[in-house]
Amino acid sequence: MNRQMDTLSLIPLFSAAVANASVDISIPIQRVIDRHWYVLGEEVANFEREFAEYVGVRRCISVANGTDAIELALRGLGVGKGDYVVAVANAGFYGSTAIHAIGAMPLYVDVDDASLTMSPDALLEVLKQKPKAVIVTHLYGQLANIEELLRITDAAGVKLVEDCAQSHGAHRGGKQAGSFGAVGCFSFYPTKNLGALGDGGAVVTNDMDLASRIQQLRQYGWSKKYQVAVPDGRNSRLDEIQAAVLCEKLPHLNKCNAERRSIAHRYNMAFATLPLRTPPSTAEDYVAHLYVMRVNSRDTFRAFLKARGISTDVHYPIPDHLQPAYPQAKYFPLEVTEAASGAVVSLPCFPGLSDTEVDCVVTAVQDYFQQ
Ligand SMILES: *Cc1c(COP(=O)(O)O)cnc(C)c1O
Repeated sequence: MNRQMDTLSLIPLFSAAVANASVDISIPIQRVIDRHWYVLGEEVANFEREFAEYVGVRRCISVANGTDAIELALRGLGVGKGDYVVAVANAGFYGSTAIHAIGAMPLYVDVDDASLTMSPDALLEVLKQKPKAVIVTHLYGQLANIEELLRITDAAGVKLVEDCAQSHGAHRGGKQAGSFGAVGCFSFYPTKNLGALGDGGAVVTNDMDLASRIQQLRQYGWSKKYQVAVPDGRNSRLDEIQAAVLCEKLPHLNKCNAERRSIAHRYNMAFATLPLRTPPSTAEDYVAHLYVMRVNSRDTFRAFLKARGISTDVHYPIPDHLQPAYPQAKYFPLEVTEAASGAVVSLPCFPGLSDTEVDCVVTAVQDYFQQ
């Protein structure tokens, strides 16, 4: 295969064109254009109702993005300046950004070695610090051990926030990601399992008081037009066009998740005997937002795949507690987190990725380990 062929046959990590191919997004967009109502209208109200129903909660409040969703959820729960919020350090700094925006302080704890989501034992340890809230991230689309984590926070009287930005539709025991904790936070960034044509986010909850506080916080703290009822309000709204697109795409979410999961399953089967770590589950509690494996000599591995025209990425190379902007970060032992950050590598896994392309990735990975 010559160089030019290589470039032509590049398999991307994600393709919006391929992932969106089965929906006609011009229809919802035209509807909004014809109606001339662009912010917080009928489309947003419809999407909030449909998404709440999908997740199985009473309320959904849409916001501008997933990071805002976490920030407003924390504010709604009463987290303020100087409060501790427990978080993992391997989830891309999004939760940390929200915590810092409030002037609160992240307290990082380690993750479980198999799932790379928050370790219940580590959480138990940190509760002595009297945190105000805990953010549990369902990383890579894998539902955390949320039942156990929730038992621990409930017993301690601490609120649990689920970061579901990578786990739309993941479920276990009949309950969806976002419906376990006090509040769930979603992002609809284009690459997410449910993606808009730009930024978007949502907060979901069964707590009607919390929902109404968050609804006020997303729009200047207003209880009604021009009346500021709560402090620290923001402008964080979802556009009508994005809501309309999300309404169009929501009915396809389960099918798309099944497709992602089936690709992950094929990878897991093919790699079972190779010296690498694969995602622990390809059941309904994993929606394969990212197919992340762990290898030694990651750079060599990535270079080999790149030469075969296969894109990879690292989610995430720098753990939150080692980010240069926050040298004073407070953390508990993070052995698993630190080891994982040096080994994780993501392979192409998205709806519309063809069988041939999956085969091509499988063969390249097998060849790498057989050279
Ligand atoms: C994408 C993401 C977010 C943030 O969402 P934005 O819409 O980009 O602000 C939060 N948490 C996790 C785990 C994410 O992957």
